[in-house]
Amino acid sequence: MFISSERCLACGSRRRPTDLDTSAYPDANLAADGTFMGLPSWFCSIDCYKKTVGKYIKDRRYDFDKTHLDDEAYKAAVEDAYAELMTEMSGGLLSTLFNKKLRMSESEFIQSKVGHIKDQFYKIQSTEIFLAEVELNEHLYAEWQHKLKEDEEEREERKEKLVERIEKAEEKQRLAQEKEDEKQRKLDEEREVKEAEEERWRAKPFKL
Ligand SMILES: [Zn+2]
Repeated sequence: MFISSERCLACGSRRRPTDLDTSAYPDANLAADGTFMGLPSWFCSIDCYKKTVGKYIKDRRYDFDKTHLDDEAYKAAVEDAYAELMTEMSGGLLSTLFNKKLRMSESEFIQSKVGHIKDQFYKIQSTEIFLAEVELNEHLYAEWQHKLKEDEEEREERKEKLVERIEKAEEKQRLAQEKEDEKQRKLDEEREVKEAEEERWRAKPFKL
């Protein structure tokens, strides 16, 4: 995983989306710009989101893109419903006439038996995906905390180095100034000696 605000969390792409179409996954905690659960991390595509969150789905029965038609419990319930339908129909014409269930179409009858199992499937799938998102979010949150701490330490270290460099530069400048002052002092001294010497040898006005 790429713990960076510059790259896709899953594939590392630097191309951030602006208009992800999440309509097929209305429960996904995914914004149009790929932001996941408000974190600095983002996904470049629905596939990258599904691939990553999917790793945290505990029960593979409820993976992304699994439908009720893949579900063994649903298939078994449909079989049971057909068996029941057969039983009802084998009751003969008289019972058929008075059988409320058989005023429904075959598919309506099956639906009345398995509809709630289908609804249940999507409810559980939605919960499983949400729990997977929460778990991923917790991992990412810890990673970001760690990264921020590291960044802070790195910033602190850089600051210390910078202060050190400034101090060294100031010290260098101070020494150069001292050297310059010393040079100037010597020059002044030499000039004074020279002037005194000249003064001594200058012809004095001569009073008669
Ligand atoms: Zn990606």
